[in-house]
Amino acid sequence: MSTVSLQHPRPAGYTLRVSLLEQCQYDCPYCLPGSVSRYTPNQERLSSSEYARLAPLLLRAGVNRVRLTGGEPLLRTDVPRVVAAFRAGMPGVSLALTTNGQKLRPVIEALREAGLDDITVHVDSLKPERYRDLMGEGDVDDVLDTVVNARGVFNHVKMNMVVQRGKNDDELHDFLAFSARHHIEVRFIELMNTGSAVDYTRSVFFTGKQMVERIGQHTLVTRLPRRNPSDPAALYRTADGVTFGIIASDTEPFCTDCNRLRLTAKGLLRGCLYQSGGAPLGPALKAGATDAELLSMLRVAQSQKRSFHPLMTQAERVPFSMADAGG
Ligand code: SAM
Repeated sequence: MSTVSLQHPRPAGYTLRVSLLEQCQYDCPYCLPGSVSRYTPNQERLSSSEYARLAPLLLRAGVNRVRLTGGEPLLRTDVPRVVAAFRAGMPGVSLALTTNGQKLRPVIEALREAGLDDITVHVDSLKPERYRDLMGEGDVDDVLDTVVNARGVFNHVKMNMVVQRGKNDDELHDFLAFSARHHIEVRFIELMNTGSAVDYTRSVFFTGKQMVERIGQHTLVTRLPRRNPSDPAALYRTADGVTFGIIASDTEPFCTDCNRLRLTAKGLLRGCLYQSGGAPLGPALKAGATDAELLSMLRVAQSQKRSFHPLMTQAERVPFSMADAGG
């Protein structure tokens, strides 16, 4: 495959995923924030006032959804201020947060008041002991209780489960039962080989197709159209009317419809998870760049989005952790 950039039209609008920091208190074996080569020091991270400066420029560049992630975003105590900064500069844009949920409960109201619309909570098992084994720590009952409370506060609350063969693939049905009981949509995620946990990823890899087959052993499963072409989740419905999503980035890549941009904690703007480096938007802002200069960097980064992932073997692809790139 050629490494030449393939530029092509994208669905209207961009989704920006912002990694607020790389650190996480959890230790999921496929993500391993400990493998991040260097955590961005506080003073090099973007602050809430720097996000406030970027927000209107992002809007002008066509960003219409922002998702705050990491690392674990709620390890930063200023997340409500970050949300408020994006909300003020990007009124009308959809603002979401992905979290492991452990530190969510005390800030739910502050996040909502700051203007957060949607929340996604990552849970790999509903069984307390297994949850701690798979995620390194935490109390799943407390997290689930928080998720159910959050449902009454935000517009959409979803759950992400990363499916791992022999570890939690026997729980797909339990997640669907939870989803039916609490009206919280679940997205089953296929592992991506990020390069930071290759052996583990290989040994527990469970494909999106296998997930559908597994669920299909218990109920009739119908495929639904995607909500919009750039949505990474393929949607399905069970015979009981439970809608769920499957994100199969590896076996069913959706690069040509991908509209995601990623901003690392340091402010490097990337067009792809698998890209190293990136346009140094954050460092330029800290060095005093003008709005016009920042906007021009944004547009160049957008024009370089590709229609494929660089392969693991290609020189430009370096191993990365999702926590680093902003998963
Ligand atoms: N700390 C938050 C959390 O746990 O959701 C936000 C960051 S985490 C990197 C975001 C999502 O990326 C989680 O749902 C996580 O499971 C997923 N993720 C991390 N590494 C992955 C991998 N190698 N393959 C698939 N999903 C991965």
